[in-house]
Amino acid sequence: MSRPRTVIVGAGIVGLATAYFLARAGRDVLVLDREEIGDGASCGNAGLLSIGHYPLTRPGVSWRGLRWMLDRDAPLFIRPRPDADLISWLWTFHRHCNRRWLDGCMRELCAMGFPTLRLFEEIIAAEGIHCDYRRDGWLDVVMDPANLPHAEAEAGSLVPHGYSYRMLTGDELRARSACFTPEVAGAAWYTDSAHCHPGDFMLGLGAACARRGVEIRTSVDVAGLERDRHGRVAGVHSARGETFEGSEVVIAAGVWSGDLMRDMGLDIPMQGARGYHLQYEGIPELPFTGCVLHETFVAVTPMRDQLRLAGTLEIQPLGRPWMRNRLQKLPGGARRYIKGIDQGRVVAEWAGYRPCTSDGMPVIGAVPGSPGLYVGTGHAMMGMTLGPVTARVLADLVLGATPPMALPLADPARYSAARVPGPAVAASA
Ligand SMILES: Cc1cc2nc3c(=O)[nH]c(=O)nc-3n(C[C@H](O)[C@H](O)[C@H](O)COP(=O)(O)OP(=O)(O)OC[C@H]3O[C@@H](n4cnc5c(N)ncnc54)[C@H](O)[C@@H]3O)c2cc1C
Repeated sequence: MSRPRTVIVGAGIVGLATAYFLARAGRDVLVLDREEIGDGASCGNAGLLSIGHYPLTRPGVSWRGLRWMLDRDAPLFIRPRPDADLISWLWTFHRHCNRRWLDGCMRELCAMGFPTLRLFEEIIAAEGIHCDYRRDGWLDVVMDPANLPHAEAEAGSLVPHGYSYRMLTGDELRARSACFTPEVAGAAWYTDSAHCHPGDFMLGLGAACARRGVEIRTSVDVAGLERDRHGRVAGVHSARGETFEGSEVVIAAGVWSGDLMRDMGLDIPMQGARGYHLQYEGIPELPFTGCVLHETFVAVTPMRDQLRLAGTLEIQPLGRPWMRNRLQKLPGGARRYIKGIDQGRVVAEWAGYRPCTSDGMPVIGAVPGSPGLYVGTGHAMMGMTLGPVTARVLADLVLGATPPMALPLADPARYSAARVPGPAVAASA
């Protein structure tokens, strides 16, 4: 008798890691993607495995975003347009930018942090993946001394969740890495986190999946769900009309999950926030660990002997041409902090999308009313970090096991009946 097959749509970190855990449990797994592994957000991101990271929805962020809309140099760009989905997304986002909602989100996101790093380490060790994984934290690097108390308060807010941090002066930073300029005032060092070369991790994970019997098919554009005559999920079909049978379907299609899920009965308010990276070689000295530059929001990650600059956030329709002036904000935002950027040579340029829900929380779990259908998406700028633990939860649900943690705020059920969740949202900022 053939084993039950699980079909996974999307070979990003969420999809591939789910496939990996299912295959390890003896499942027959088919992963479908329309692109090759190596092209997407899970490979092009900054590679910061920053556990305990805040969601986008934080008190004051929506007002700051409004101001940024009027500033062409701001890290956030929203293309104004009369689009009902965008307006509704912005309004719901604004309503979730309050302390009560944030506290609830942080309880769940922080609970996912240490388990996700354990899973990274378990996969890397078991599969011999060489991805320059380093558990040496990340730095919130501050230029203006007036911003140091804010940086310290943010790092300190994670302490009740079991996380640790250290403040470093500018001199202490420069003693560790001479690349920091004399203008840098100091940093909050989030010592529990890690970083890696995300593309190398993904290629290693893809190879591990293949070794464990997962079938990975690329150039397949999934268009919809197949159901049997009882309404139960029976697989998916592609835009070219091929069908792929499965007793369960997991949608892990990143920012495109919104459109796919809408056709499958779940209305996830999703916007893609595009960002870029520039990969450099030949920079004389690299920082000792990954950084986010406090005033410019540029992420700076050492990857072997190269340096990746990543950042900017553009909310506009998917697939628009690159905004090259915004790409240039990466070196523009980094050279005041890090010496030698202009001595480096750019070896790669990339753009990709963060999948952003309007309440800032990911969507992880079973889809109500569709037995056999699961979804894992919406992690915004935390998806690389939270991919493995998300996958563990999804795999356990598919296998009928108890997931390692309950994630009520990430439950897909919040979108099945009404777009705006209940009373916690209405709390004042
Ligand atoms: C500039 C930038 C920097 C970032 N930095 C970090 C960071 O430092 N740390 C961190 O944790 N996160 C970071 N992120 C966020 C992170 O990259 C994403 O949250 C994460 O990669 C999302 O993973 P995913 O598996 O959900 O989706 P993806 O990686 O987008 O994978 C989805 C896959 O589904 C496929 N697909 C979509 N629709 C279909 C379809 N219909 N049929 C077939 N296949 C389909 C796509 O081709 C894609 O391969 C960053 C993102 C950006 C853009």
